[in-house]
Amino acid sequence: MLKRVLIANRGEIALRIFRACRECGMETVAVYSEADSEALHVQLATRSVCIGPAPAGESYLNQEAVLEVALSTGCDGIHPGYGFLSENADFADACKKAGLTFIGPSGETIRMAGSKSSARKRMREAGVPVPPGADGTLSSEAMALEVAERVGYPVLLKASAGGGGRGIRRCDGPEQLPSAYAQARAEAKACFGNEELYLEKLVLRPRHIEVQVLADRHGNVIHLGDRDCSIQRRNQKLIEEAPAWGLSPALREKMGAAAVRAARAVGYENAGTVEFLLDQDGEQFYFMEMNTRIQVEHGITELVTGVDLVREQLRIASGLPLSLTQKEVTLSGCAMECRINAENPQENFRPDPGVVTFLHFPGGNGVRVDSCLYQGWELSPYYDSLAAKLLVHGHTRLDAVKKMRRSLEEFTLEGFQTNGELSYQILYHPDFVRGCCTTAFLEENLPALLDFNRRLREKEESE
Ligand code: ADP
Ligand code: ADP
Ligand code: MG
Repeated sequence: MLKRVLIANRGEIALRIFRACRECGMETVAVYSEADSEALHVQLATRSVCIGPAPAGESYLNQEAVLEVALSTGCDGIHPGYGFLSENADFADACKKAGLTFIGPSGETIRMAGSKSSARKRMREAGVPVPPGADGTLSSEAMALEVAERVGYPVLLKASAGGGGRGIRRCDGPEQLPSAYAQARAEAKACFGNEELYLEKLVLRPRHIEVQVLADRHGNVIHLGDRDCSIQRRNQKLIEEAPAWGLSPALREKMGAAAVRAARAVGYENAGTVEFLLDQDGEQFYFMEMNTRIQVEHGITELVTGVDLVREQLRIASGLPLSLTQKEVTLSGCAMECRINAENPQENFRPDPGVVTFLHFPGGNGVRVDSCLYQGWELSPYYDSLAAKLLVHGHTRLDAVKKMRRSLEEFTLEGFQTNGELSYQILYHPDFVRGCCTTAFLEENLPALLDFNRRLREKEESE
């Protein structure tokens, strides 16, 4: 097994990786920015080294600095977490060249899967269905118009290097195309330093269903069931559940098999996620993208399968075979996750960072909190607004819903605004309770949910 792992990340995922390393008997080295010297995992790691100022470009994304620390502190592995360098093929290559184990797939695989336009093409060739659209990137606005005309409106223009829901623009007709094209390109350039776009037909009112896969160096590829991540705002996930509710065993089997085929098609190694859209009839599904890293919502799969995914990542990177076979994967009960972000839903989800002045986490049977928060910690405006993940595990979906409501009631955080109350309202919405919401759910119901929240608050204040 690896002996000493550098954690090239921050926040809750850095802590999550730290915990898995410790349980595997590995030492850890934290790298951090000047804004994170008081972070929990920095305090807990065997060694911690500051690699630069707060802006990620000068610290967490500084490949040379990260590699230098790994080498000078005697690390043999680097875990990139999610975001930052996790899907950077050049970084994976650079680790290998420096004699370090990148805990993830090879640079070559990341390159294939990470360019969303080329992944689309490769999946189609491997017999995995993709939405109608352009193969490869768009070379001009005229080409975008031509493809949109061919597949039919509405369409989505999407950043080829995209992630986190950014660089995506909907377009309902040719008159909207020029501005959508310019906006998507500008956002792609700003977020990913790459303005290449591709185009897909918009799948109407779909569900976002993804499949967790694991692959080792010995040719074993398995899947660990699915997750439904349809509760999204601006194409970003807010509430997730595992397994996806209401899928027939036959469809579940088909999607799992397609995910394994997708992983094999890019020579996958380590933990990854294949994201699909399921159309509104619940019959046809389409490949959307493959995330070549640990996913934010991996914990709900851990709760229903009992598999520690980060531990599997460490084992795979150490050259060990998967610790279970496909037949040994069993799903038990239902798990749900709410992402608690430091943001104000009433003001278009504007990030609202600040100092945690009071904190109480829910607990009890079947409740897990993954978070880097503690009382007195300042959530920095420099990074992602994700503050905590509340996870619950129940025997049935309704058990999980009730447990999540109870957990949100108990969860107390003072110092900044979060989306916690909004998530609480969602958990009482009849459509949500029934299950099988589409990705349109939140947008369609947001005004009513926010209005209810606003009136509740006014009532509380007047009492
Ligand atoms: P997941 O499917 O794991 O939830 P998301 O797409 O929501 O993935 O992104 C997870 C995290 O990684 C978010 O913090 C997001 O901002 C970040 N992220 C995702 N893709 C990229 C990317 N290409 N570049 C930078 N950050 C990214
Ligand atoms: P990212 O890399 O930012 O996560 P994805 O390709 O995974 O981008 O898309 C993010 C979200 O956008 C999806 O979860 C889905 O809600 C929506 N989306 C993406 N492509 C389509 C499509 N062709 N039709 C309908 N919705 C889509
Ligand atoms: Mg995605």
